[in-house]
Amino acid sequence: MVEAYAPQTGWITKDSDLSHDERRQVEWLAEQVMATGEVILIDNVQDLPNSRQANRPEAVGQAIAPLQFFAGFPVGTTLRTLGSLMVFTRTQGSLTPEQQQAIVTLATEMGSLLDTVTLTAVSPGSGPTLPLPEAAAIAAQAAPPSVSPNYHNVMRLSMALQSCLTFEDLTNQLVALLPVNLPIHAFEVALNFEHHKSQRLCFWSDETVNIPHSDELVCQIPDKFDVYTLKPERRMPTARMPVAPRDTSDSTTQLPPYYYWRCYQLAVHNRSLGTLKLCLKPETAKHFPVENSILDYVADQISVTLRRLVLLRKLQAENLQDPLTKLFNRRHMMGVLSKLLKRVSYGQYEVGLIILDLDHFKRLNDTYGHDAGDQVLSMVGIFLKGHARPNDVVCRFGGEEFVLILPGVTWPILERRAQQLCRGLHYLNLKVGETTLQITMSAGFAIAPSQAKTPATLIKAADTALYEAKCQGRDRAVGAPLTPESEA
Ligand code: GH3
Ligand code: MG
Ligand code: MG
Repeated sequence: MVEAYAPQTGWITKDSDLSHDERRQVEWLAEQVMATGEVILIDNVQDLPNSRQANRPEAVGQAIAPLQFFAGFPVGTTLRTLGSLMVFTRTQGSLTPEQQQAIVTLATEMGSLLDTVTLTAVSPGSGPTLPLPEAAAIAAQAAPPSVSPNYHNVMRLSMALQSCLTFEDLTNQLVALLPVNLPIHAFEVALNFEHHKSQRLCFWSDETVNIPHSDELVCQIPDKFDVYTLKPERRMPTARMPVAPRDTSDSTTQLPPYYYWRCYQLAVHNRSLGTLKLCLKPETAKHFPVENSILDYVADQISVTLRRLVLLRKLQAENLQDPLTKLFNRRHMMGVLSKLLKRVSYGQYEVGLIILDLDHFKRLNDTYGHDAGDQVLSMVGIFLKGHARPNDVVCRFGGEEFVLILPGVTWPILERRAQQLCRGLHYLNLKVGETTLQITMSAGFAIAPSQAKTPATLIKAADTALYEAKCQGRDRAVGAPLTPESEA
């Protein structure tokens, strides 16, 4: 619902569901807009005697005073509202649908920019946000799905996609915005996986059509690579055609079926990421040439977003991973440990920790070279992952040291697991060139909460035990000293 308030007349829309504080916030913003004159002026200037004066940019400040009405549009992405854009008009309801649409586009655009700027500085929900209706809801009211999508629709979509940080965000945005902004009966976005497989990320249908299988689609313009349409000889054996308009004299009903179904390759720099299938409404399909229509632009926007999300996911994974062994790194280990130990303090739950250190690794490096040492480290990583239970967390602690976190373990099981790991390494077939290497490792282990209650003390307890294992001659597992509590 669009709220309207003018300092001279007060609230125009009385039946608002804004709280007292929210109203004050909007009123305050209104006063600011009046004071600074930073407004977007939209009116029907022809109708007004002083229109020429009002229309001059330098006279905007003066022109505000006689204005009767203005509306606050939420500035933000469809995920959150960040502020408000005030729009002045001479008379209530004088904005045309196109003007309303342009304002919503502008507000979304501003919101997206603000969102990018404040992303790291402002946590969601904080800051001077206005709980006005979300941009998507406003847009739906202000601009019912038009016959042909225009620049504003697509800009709004593009801005909304820029704010996506997860695949879930993307799915929500596409399902909310594509049907509103494009004249379609259905759409599907599928992502590519290894071995030429693809998986549906999201789809929507108004239930008049089914999504055809990829086999039913053929590349319409092979050289161009990115426009696919329905194979003429396979006119949707499994997919029903979109309902045709009743007026059969309309030339649009004569269009070939590939005009209705469009399948776009989602690609960036010739690297295919997935596909976008759109089922256009027959009466509107003629507005979209198979090549170079606005739909190409929509597909490009989705492609760029997908590429960004794939990269983001990769970066997030890398941030937690040791590049050599692909095990979790120390940062992730500390995070996991502190979360687990918080839970431990509430109940009967125990967490075990084993530190493993390769014996005489320096000697191996000196004898066979650093590359051979690296190979050994990555093979030990594979060995440890292979010997972990699903809930265990295996990390590279640093250098030739590894840590295993074992949630929900008991002392006897922890001891057995540590010994099994040391023994198991004897059977690891380590080949560097023609040489088969024999390596051993030592382990120290401890358990929380009986031997330690914090990550630092648990690591310290296991490390002290590891030192003891080294002193006793290496190639063995030693536990931290038992307390009466840990023995029980
Ligand atoms: P100990 O049995 O007492 O643990 O003896 P050690 O030789 O294994 O222990 P020390 O701490 O003396 O040496 C550890 C070696 O691990 C020294 C270092 O060069 C090697 N190292 C640490 N990180 C890496 C790595 O990423 N790659 C390789 N190849 N070597 C590494
Ligand atoms: Mg060491
Ligand atoms: Mg060592």
